Amino acid sequence: MRIVKTFRHRCVKCGNCCKTNGRVYLMVEDVLTLSENMKMSVILFLDQYCEYRVERYILPNKGIVQEKLALRKLSDNKCIFLMGNLCRIHSVKPLQCKAAPCLPQFLDDEEAWLRFAAICKGFGSGEEYKPNRYIRLSDEVRNQQANYVNLLAKHNGSLKQLFGYNPRTVVECVVDMQDMQWNSSRT
Ligand code: SF4
Ligand code: SF4
Repeated sequence: MRIVKTFRHRCVKCGNCCKTNGRVYLMVEDVLTLSENMKMSVILFLDQYCEYRVERYILPNKGIVQEKLALRKLSDNKCIFLMGNLCRIHSVKPLQCKAAPCLPQFLDDEEAWLRFAAICKGFGSGEEYKPNRYIRLSDEVRNQQANYVNLLAKHNGSLKQLFGYNPRTVVECVVDMQDMQWNSSRT
C-alpha cells in the first residue's frame, strides 16, 4: 500500500467523481441495501440500475475472468443516480462511493490517486485523514471485495447463480494489464 501520510478531504458535492468513465462496482451488501431501501426486488433493482459485466483480465502468463455488477451510466458517463451534482441515494450509496478517496485502487496506485485528486475539489479542506483512518476504510473495502470473490466462487463464479438472475444484457470487457488497452462489446 502506498502511504500518503496525511491529507485533508471534505466532499464539496461537485459531482465530478460521478461523471467519470470509471465504474461504481457493487458488493453484494450494496445490492441488498439498495434494493431494500428502494423497496424493489433484487431482480428488479439489477434490471433497472445495474450493468452485468464479464471482465476478462489478461495478466502475464494467465487470465482471470470475473463477473461484476456496476451501477449503470447515462450516455454522458453520469451515474444513473446523479441528479444535478447530487447523489439521489446519498444515505445508502455503495461502499465504493462512501469510502472514496480511501480506496485500495487509489492507495495502491499513485497515478490513479493523482487522477482522482485532479478532478476532486474536496482535497485540502475538512477533516484530516491520518494513515490509521484511511487504512481502516480501504481495508473495509478490501474485506468486502474478498467476501465478494469468495461468495462468487461458491456459485461457480456466476452472478446469475448467486442472485438467481438472468440479465437481459451482458457487457463483456477485455483488459490487457500490460498495455491497459480496453475492448468492450455488448451481447
Ligand atoms: S451512487 Fe451517488 S455518489 Fe456514487 S457515483 Fe452514483 S451519484 Fe455518485
Ligand atoms: S469529486 Fe470529490 S468533492 Fe466532488 S463529489 Fe466526488 S468526492 Fe465530492
